[in-house]
Amino acid sequence: MPPRVSAYEMIEVPLALEAILSRVAPLGIEHVDLAQARGRYLADEVQADADLPGQPRSSVDGYAVIASDAATDLQVLEEVTAGRLANARVSPGTAVRIMTGGMLPEGADAVVMVEDVDEVDGRARLQRKPRSGENVHPPGMDLKRGQPVLCKGSRVGTAEIGLLATVGCVDVPVFRRPRLAVLATGDELVEPHETPPAGSVRDSNRYALMAAAQEAGAEVVWNSHAHDDEEALEAAMREGLSHADVLLTSGGVSMGTRDLIKPLLERMASIQFGRISFKPGKPLTFATTADGRFVFGLPGFPVSSLVTFEVFVRPALLKLQGAQRCLRPRVEAALGHEVRPDAFRLEYQRATLAWEDHRFVARTTGLQSSSRLMSIVGANALLEIEPGTEVLPAGTMVQALLLANL
Ligand code: AMP
Ligand code: MG
Repeated sequence: MPPRVSAYEMIEVPLALEAILSRVAPLGIEHVDLAQARGRYLADEVQADADLPGQPRSSVDGYAVIASDAATDLQVLEEVTAGRLANARVSPGTAVRIMTGGMLPEGADAVVMVEDVDEVDGRARLQRKPRSGENVHPPGMDLKRGQPVLCKGSRVGTAEIGLLATVGCVDVPVFRRPRLAVLATGDELVEPHETPPAGSVRDSNRYALMAAAQEAGAEVVWNSHAHDDEEALEAAMREGLSHADVLLTSGGVSMGTRDLIKPLLERMASIQFGRISFKPGKPLTFATTADGRFVFGLPGFPVSSLVTFEVFVRPALLKLQGAQRCLRPRVEAALGHEVRPDAFRLEYQRATLAWEDHRFVARTTGLQSSSRLMSIVGANALLEIEPGTEVLPAGTMVQALLLANL
């Protein structure tokens, strides 16, 4: 057999990302209950429906008084607790006992903390004079009516849930989550509960990719395994696509005689690229279907499939669900040891970053083989190592994508 040459042009990483992100757009809008909104992306700006607080409120337990009142021995008219309105009006020589969150009674303009007052027989003796406005939250201090509080495309996290509740947004407009199908391919694969016979391996990619997709906010609606057989593969791919917006396949995209995904995609879809200048995962393939679905042909090696997912698929899933920011944050880090770059391809090395001596220091997770999942376990960053022939000495500054909060 003569050496085989890939029919696909090798494209650079930024071009590949652009080829993907220029073709994906938010899928659509739905409304979900406030309690279901966590992790979703807002499809609309949310505004405050009213001033908060609506009326001046006490921020402490104490006595509502008139700051300019010359008297310091005051008659206590009544008590106001949170949620109750005062009946009395505070006038010189009087005070109202007030609890945190209580609405400031008419006439009063300050609250003296309970710690600074002696109350005996219905009279409050102030040990200090307050300033006007002291311990009072004025109307609109936290939120002004009509003020935008959350912007379209922002992720609903814990503080956002609190804000949505605060402004009464219980039917939350969010972008639809992408439906995703995962197909593992390979004659050598057995299920994780099986003991692989000689020459076989357990299918780890299907499960790892489903987890990665769920973490990225996708809804995994279908998954399967197919043998390296044209008919079986085509049937499985068509079925997966019939359920999903995005199909991920693993394996079968490189140059082997049983690597059938690319030729099948040629028939079923339009291949946008079939080779990237990237390590690990050169044969990553991206295709679009005539009816607006997306297929990522991920390489079979477990590390290659997860790293290409991280760098190319995750941003696409985030953009499909309306995220404003699709890419991981980047920082500069100093290599904690020397690193040998790949001669030709941009390499994404798995590492742990730690803050040491006023900078991030990156340490490798060990052997960077594309079959060694242990190189991802515990990694909190991907180091972008530019191609080259010279070893990079310890201390060299490189770019790192942050995979986790450090
Ligand atoms: P392929 O790209 O299909 O040639 O696969 C390359 C190698 O990746 C195979 O020889 C397997 O060892 C491994 N591999 C492929 N698919 C999986 C999978 N689903 N889970 C774990 N390893 C896999
Ligand atoms: Mg294979």
